[in-house]
Amino acid sequence: MGKVVSVAIGEANLRISLADTGTQSLNTVYKAATHKTNAKFLKQMFSAIDKLKNFEGIGVASPGLLNASKGIIHKSRNLGLADLNIVKILEDRYKVPVFLSSRAVAGVLAEHLFGSGKDCRQMAFLTFSTGIECGVILNGRLLLGKEGNAHEIGHAIIDANSSVQCGCGGKGHWEAFTSGSGIPVFARYLLNTKYEDKKSSLRSVKELHPQAVFDAAKKDKVAAGIVAEIGRINAMGAGNMSSIFDLELITVSGGVALYNKDAVLNPIAKDIGKYTVNKPPKVVISKLGEKTVPYGAVADFM
Ligand SMILES: [Zn+2]
Repeated sequence: MGKVVSVAIGEANLRISLADTGTQSLNTVYKAATHKTNAKFLKQMFSAIDKLKNFEGIGVASPGLLNASKGIIHKSRNLGLADLNIVKILEDRYKVPVFLSSRAVAGVLAEHLFGSGKDCRQMAFLTFSTGIECGVILNGRLLLGKEGNAHEIGHAIIDANSSVQCGCGGKGHWEAFTSGSGIPVFARYLLNTKYEDKKSSLRSVKELHPQAVFDAAKKDKVAAGIVAEIGRINAMGAGNMSSIFDLELITVSGGVALYNKDAVLNPIAKDIGKYTVNKPPKVVISKLGEKTVPYGAVADFM
């Protein structure tokens, strides 16, 4: 096979790349904010793919919930797409084979084939973006689940007594505390409870973006305390993964981690052993960075 198209759908950006299966290279040809209704999204995706010539397949990676084997994106709370039969739509338009996988599955496959997890048979890809997801390979095989949704670790309950609400409506879920969408809510919660009577530069920030919290932590004690709490919760979540899956390796990715490598990675790598009964896995930042999921989307063709 020669050239294939990679469609990596994210809550923030749609990234379309052209990959060469011979040289195993991948070049991004389109990146823009993801349009958030089915009709607008399809128009956006078609206009980018229509410009590409002589490709022999398309791989799509998307946040869930999916029915991956039927090729349908059922819904994504953070994305706005619903019941989108994306595989059939792309096959009908471009007359090439199309595969759909979850973003986390694509991520772990890319890390396994091209990244830090080469030759590793027990590994996970853990991504911190708008939500938290993990893709898992056990005994050299991908863990998929009945509809391809075995990646929703972000909704694992970390604190059963917490009032901090997740985007899904549940309370105390991992991503409610430490994902891109959770950090602002959790930081505000801590400012109003644990740090109620403490001064902090974060109090004057109107829109608390995760980056504002990590940046402030370099000189503000309260922000540093919040970042430490984020680190403790992430170590706990990764520890749960280790206890469930008995992993050799976790590769960490997603915008929140890639832009704050030390602050996100170090507490997990250092403290995961406190929260698992198993021998803790090695924890590293993804070497492929923002290209992990685009590579994984077309891994079936490579
Ligand atoms: Zn949730």
